[in-house]
Amino acid sequence: MRFETLAIHDGQTPDPGTGSVTVPVFQSSTFEREDLYHHREFFYSRIGNPTRQALESSLALLENARFGLAFASGVAATMAALQVLRPGEHVVSGIDIYGGTYRIFEQLLRPWGISISYAEDESTESYEACIRPETRLLWIESPSNPLLGLSDIRALSAMARQKGILTAVDNTFASPYFQLPLELGADIVVHSTTKYLGGHSDVIGGAVVMNDAALHKTIKNYQAAAGAIPGPWDCWLVMRGIKTLKIRMKEHEVNAMHLARLLEAHPAVERVSYPGLPSHPHHDLAKRQMTGFGGMLTFALKGGLPAVETLLGGLKLFTLADSLGGVESLVASPSKMTLGALSAEERRKRGCSDNLVRMSAGLEHALDLEADLLQALAAITK
Ligand SMILES: *Cc1c(COP(=O)(O)O)cnc(C)c1O
Repeated sequence: MRFETLAIHDGQTPDPGTGSVTVPVFQSSTFEREDLYHHREFFYSRIGNPTRQALESSLALLENARFGLAFASGVAATMAALQVLRPGEHVVSGIDIYGGTYRIFEQLLRPWGISISYAEDESTESYEACIRPETRLLWIESPSNPLLGLSDIRALSAMARQKGILTAVDNTFASPYFQLPLELGADIVVHSTTKYLGGHSDVIGGAVVMNDAALHKTIKNYQAAAGAIPGPWDCWLVMRGIKTLKIRMKEHEVNAMHLARLLEAHPAVERVSYPGLPSHPHHDLAKRQMTGFGGMLTFALKGGLPAVETLLGGLKLFTLADSLGGVESLVASPSKMTLGALSAEERRKRGCSDNLVRMSAGLEHALDLEADLLQALAAITK
């Protein structure tokens, strides 16, 4: 079956008891046992819950994978995927990554004796240059946050596999509709389902998806033991989002492309990073490894931080907020907001300058977004 059919039907067959066409919210912490010696399929909701299981099955199928696991947040999913590491081992990560992932590496992993190197840029060579005998995992974010750089997932996975190293990809920005990292050779996919999968800015969640049974066992065991599971209602909301993922992603992309072109031609704008623009340094790679370019774009304003302040103050339709991937258009300053916790030096190394603006193109009419953006940009140039 094809993507949109799976998104609507998998794990979501009518409830056998009642015929309900949507999966019921099984708001129960525990389930009656058959007898003293036998429990049913479900017995305690931290270990397994029918609503969560429906979501996990759906997440696996969207990534064309064998196993999916749902978590209480994207960072909980990231932490779960990182359980493949043991003290003394080493991770090579991309340089431009989600701020919360950086915090996990620096504040949680390092004190446990795991070391981390950051590749100098997105290229396969710069990841390879960081590899040591104790390297166990490559951590890739593509497209990356906030600069929207791309890494060659197929080349990196092949290089890692040859050296016995695992590859994990944070696929949040592309969503499974536009990119399938496991098919490109990666071992683990991580999502913040808070973003495109949920899609309506109304739930926090995460997912880990994989094909290997041993990896699944490790991460599922961690899920049961550490307990960062999503509640049944949150699972239900993500499932509802997933049903419309295809049509939303297509429209997010149309609007993002429209805004990217408009910004690229505007005199107040220094440069635009959107994988769908021919000017993007990895546009060809985007065409090879993705089936679409997504709804996120980042641009630099010529006037520095004062120009950013004017723009953000002038926008009316775009909401100033940290998240992304919802139906409403959002705008953020990476240096003051999402990466605000990093030191100025750390931000500089990452290329995260004060004049950057990150946009999550929502599903409003493109011409309404255009009018709002143009009036706010006009205040900078006047
Ligand atoms: C938001 C986000 C996360 C973290 O997810 P939460 O649901 O906020 O915990 C991880 N990676 C990326 C790329 C994100 O955008």
